[in-house]
Amino acid sequence: MELNRRQFLLAGIAAPALAAQQATPPSPGVAPIMDRGFAAVTRLTDGVYATIANSSKGAQAASNGGIIAGRDAVLIIEGHMQPEAAAFEIEAARAISRAPIRAAIDTHFHLDHSGGNLAYAGQHIPIIAHELVGPLMKERYTDLKGVDHSGVFAPIERRLAAATQATDKQHLQSDLVLIRRWYDSIDAATLAYPTESLSQAALPKTIDLGGLTAVIEFHLGHSPTDLIIRVPERGIVFTGDLLFNHAYGVAIDADMLAWRKVLDRFAGYDRRTLFVPGHGAACGIENVRDQADLMDDLRAHAEKMMRAGASAEEAESRYVVPARFESYGVARWNWSVGAALASYYSGLKKPA
Ligand SMILES: [Zn+2]
Repeated sequence: MELNRRQFLLAGIAAPALAAQQATPPSPGVAPIMDRGFAAVTRLTDGVYATIANSSKGAQAASNGGIIAGRDAVLIIEGHMQPEAAAFEIEAARAISRAPIRAAIDTHFHLDHSGGNLAYAGQHIPIIAHELVGPLMKERYTDLKGVDHSGVFAPIERRLAAATQATDKQHLQSDLVLIRRWYDSIDAATLAYPTESLSQAALPKTIDLGGLTAVIEFHLGHSPTDLIIRVPERGIVFTGDLLFNHAYGVAIDADMLAWRKVLDRFAGYDRRTLFVPGHGAACGIENVRDQADLMDDLRAHAEKMMRAGASAEEAESRYVVPARFESYGVARWNWSVGAALASYYSGLKKPA
């Protein structure tokens, strides 16, 4: 419904000069131009496409991506989880445009956004990322490949053995399965590192694609390496994991206080802005506000628990998803709720 309302707004309010180019954004009824099961490419507007992952049909993509096709060059967003998904982006980019592919951008270092880079490297497509993406990929993935991961699982197993509440058991059991799967992915991955590392001092960076501009900005929040890509001519923003649509965001590398400020910035964009989040469907500014409210709820819980003298672990165990967010996904309780609360605990304890 929200997207339909956006469609209406775009049709009615778009400046006449842009109206010819600014096509309607996708609504649930808009058919993708290419569908590979694990991901589908949908045209958002002239020259801008979202690649929306569908993990129920395969783990190859695992995160959203996209394509920005200007007159002179094409930019691909995201390295996805596996090379097969990055290869799908290349195939779609070449089907959309004959212009050369300038580069692919990893919005941050997480494996579901960088694990498929090998497909770009194989085609000599430059890979752009924040300067810390390469070092963090090496530290968190390459160096852990094939290593005994029991040290990661042991604390969760210990908590599971000690858990008395049914909800705690359920969260820990589910976390254990999914975190094991994540480490299986690390073991299976053959990684390719970024070839164009952007120093923070060099950002924002603008790439002229011919009639369309990609503005690459750094915003700390979800990880120390978060880039967003704005297309000002079309009012579209690829946010990476700085925005999750209808889900609790993964917070294992997050600075929650900084992340919340980024959402304020997004909420201040033109109200017709269309966001392609890291996970979930393309969405409008209403979803940014929902995500901000969700974070405020987590922060309020952290503050309450801190006042009560509870540990961060106790706070994690005692957090209850509010009715308003009951339909939201929590992929891994500890990586979303637990990690967010831990970030608030350390951030809020710092002297002002
Ligand atoms: Zn991420």
